[in-house]
Amino acid sequence: MPGPGASRIIGAVYDTGTESVALSIVVPIFNEEEALPVLAARLRPILDGGGEPYEVVAVDDGSTDGTARLLEDLRTVWPQLRIVTLRRNSGHQAALTAGLHRSLGAYVISIDADLQDPPELIPDMLALARADGLDIVYGIRTDRSADSGFKRRTAAAYYWLMRRLAGSYVPAQAGDFRLLSRAVVETLKTLPDQQQIYRLLIPWLGFPGGQITYQRAERVAGATKYPLHKMVLLALDSVTSFSAVPLRLATAIGAFSLVLCLAFLTWALTVYAMGRTLPGWTSLIITVLFFGAVQLFCLGMLGEYVARIYTAVQARPTYSVASDTQDDHPRQ
Ligand code: UDP
Ligand code: MG
Repeated sequence: MPGPGASRIIGAVYDTGTESVALSIVVPIFNEEEALPVLAARLRPILDGGGEPYEVVAVDDGSTDGTARLLEDLRTVWPQLRIVTLRRNSGHQAALTAGLHRSLGAYVISIDADLQDPPELIPDMLALARADGLDIVYGIRTDRSADSGFKRRTAAAYYWLMRRLAGSYVPAQAGDFRLLSRAVVETLKTLPDQQQIYRLLIPWLGFPGGQITYQRAERVAGATKYPLHKMVLLALDSVTSFSAVPLRLATAIGAFSLVLCLAFLTWALTVYAMGRTLPGWTSLIITVLFFGAVQLFCLGMLGEYVARIYTAVQARPTYSVASDTQDDHPRQ
């Protein structure tokens, strides 16, 4: 990897000393042996047609199927293909981080391996960034009819919540198909954030950005690697890394409950003073259960933030690179 000072941006090309890369395509890959040949067949002509030096950074996120061998085979006939192998499966965002950190291009485009996002848009994204001097071009999914109804509804809820919690700068339906300039990538590298949730973090940086819209296609092969529990984790991470609102919510709920309790207490004491006692089992059990639930909920929320602090303090790297074909021919 080029050290500080070893690299500089010259025109549209990021000069790493001995070789220049105009465009890096970062592809996180986890068990995509079926999708890979199709991806290569569609991606390569587009990139070759661009006539500029490029690299495809394929991040093998601990695949256990034939992905690794397939990538090696592809590389023998496609010299621009660079394989970064992670030691174990670290998740989509971590694989993306590894790819971004190791990319060399003046522009970097991240794209999924399953071809749900059309590589044909890559030249358009690049042209838009150059024409308008943009640092970010978001791929916006206008039509998600190819995704399941459940996926669409949960995604809509996610973006709704994020716009509320993290601010309106989060473009709705922007996934991880996007273009970043070298300046953005270098800025991302300096952030100490452990779980970088790019679709929220990148808009937050405030670089000038544009959009390009497309229809989301179906997965070309294989099954989604995002089961429900991972979606829930992403949503929880997104909330806790961008908003303290839930913590304040706990305070608000606490204050509200206190008022409610005081009112109830006054009423109960008044009735008692008047010589009547209440047959209270139902009200008692409802109160106990209700406040028990509220307390556990608030405790859980607090726990989410503590967990975040815990991971931040541990400061473990989110990924570990076993090999990078680039290191065989260092560029500096
Ligand atoms: N992926 C990854 N590591 C994982 C899960 C997924 O690198 O642990 C990759 C996967 O191979 C794909 C991309 O991340 O290229 C997006 O995953 P997927 O298509 O399964 O997610 P969905 O489109 O269903 O949200
Ligand atoms: Mg997908």
